[in-house]
Amino acid sequence: MFKMVKKSKIQTPDWILKGDMPPKRKKQGKTFKIRMCPKCNSDKVSVVIGDVGKWECKECKWKGTKPKEEELEEEEFMEYLDKKGEEVA
Ligand SMILES: [Zn+2]
Repeated sequence: MFKMVKKSKIQTPDWILKGDMPPKRKKQGKTFKIRMCPKCNSDKVSVVIGDVGKWECKECKWKGTKPKEEELEEEEFMEYLDKKGEEVA
């Protein structure tokens, strides 16, 4: 006769049995890139017209070729737009 194997009600997930790390939740959806001033973290940076590849911060007058880039998820981006929206006339 076989001995009945005790069955627990809750099944242990495969990744625990294998000793793996829990499956990572992938970032879903789009990400949005925004550019910020590396000096004052303002997002009021824009390309200098007539000066290719140059950026300028309207807040602190920073000028350079490499503004800070930040990648935001959709939710964060919406928040960012909300905050930004208050300032835009
Ligand atoms: Zn700045």
